[in-house]
Amino acid sequence: MAAGVASPGGGLDFSWGRHCSTETQKCGANGHYCRSAAPPVTQAKESIEKRIDRLHASGLVDMHFDLPLDLYEKRNHPGALVSHYLPEFEAGNIGVIGAALYVEDRYLPEMGLRVALDQVARVYAEADNSDQFAICKTNEEIKRARQENKIALIITMEGVEPLGDDLDLLRVFHQLGLRMVGLTHARRNAAGAGGIFAASGSPRDGLTAFGREVVGECERLGIIIDLAHINPKGFEEIVELTKKPLIVSHTNARKFYDIERNISDEQIKMIGERGGVIGMNAILVSPNPGDSTIDRYVDHIEHVISLIGIDGVGIGFDFCEYLFEQLPESVRKELAAKLTTPHFIPDLTNHSHARNLIRKLIERGFGDGDIGKILRENWLRVFEGMLGRGD
Ligand SMILES: [Zn+2]
Repeated sequence: MAAGVASPGGGLDFSWGRHCSTETQKCGANGHYCRSAAPPVTQAKESIEKRIDRLHASGLVDMHFDLPLDLYEKRNHPGALVSHYLPEFEAGNIGVIGAALYVEDRYLPEMGLRVALDQVARVYAEADNSDQFAICKTNEEIKRARQENKIALIITMEGVEPLGDDLDLLRVFHQLGLRMVGLTHARRNAAGAGGIFAASGSPRDGLTAFGREVVGECERLGIIIDLAHINPKGFEEIVELTKKPLIVSHTNARKFYDIERNISDEQIKMIGERGGVIGMNAILVSPNPGDSTIDRYVDHIEHVISLIGIDGVGIGFDFCEYLFEQLPESVRKELAAKLTTPHFIPDLTNHSHARNLIRKLIERGFGDGDIGKILRENWLRVFEGMLGRGD
């Protein structure tokens, strides 16, 4: 579907409610959620393709995509947002994207701020060049963008390296549109340390004094704090320091892939108790390549639901195969040694594959209302509660 053309469902659906699911019911002593095996009569008459069309027509929210990084690398090819990305966004009917500023090691420390600002500049230049995107700073702007059939871009930051240890720069980035901040990637910075890609071994200490200041200032400015990547002690400290709903833009359950970078059952419950949302990552679903499947991806979703309910899970695909493929073999080996070898899910490697996920959710017995919450509505609830009207 072209972003400029009204979808059968009228674009991203904002008519969601806060009601609890009646499709997914808690049952059994272990608190697991289960769904009725037989679909409602009206659904039984509808072909699966039509049902996918209907659910897909209301759009998806993906809260983690390294778009600014790649637009920066493609800075000598203006128009890349439309020529390179738009076809996949349209095919997947992606309505809202968390566009993550991320500075690679090779630019740090001297060039961190410069590269991050250039990434922001590329996002603005590329979005301004097209009438199909809108950089959104408030919930109202997100709603307006979708009413106009534009793709809403929310600028996020993955690791505060661009700030150095200067809190004033956080205010500058906020002015530029930054609305979500994860303190770290897998490395240590002035705010804290990231969880590593192994079951244990990251620094035991939590946030630095600067990290605590960043958290406080984010809450004051209305920037959502993203718990993705932070090490276990830092996670715990952020939970204690903050009052608002907590989110993880992109992660997976340690139950299926036990690395610090992923999220434990206890952490999932902490997010749930605060009414937060966990975006499910499509890259780190299993340490075994053979288990990197859409079914395993849905296992992660079901696990989160079993612990905190249907209102706590969303999408944070973190599609990056295209970035990985661009790297020279030597850099790939270096990354694999330092982090991990990514295992991409063959039929869920880019945004155009969104329908494959919807099909799988249907096959696994999810009801329409629950699929809507996973694809978009839980994130929309977070935006409504945390990005406000901007006045
Ligand atoms: Zn990440």
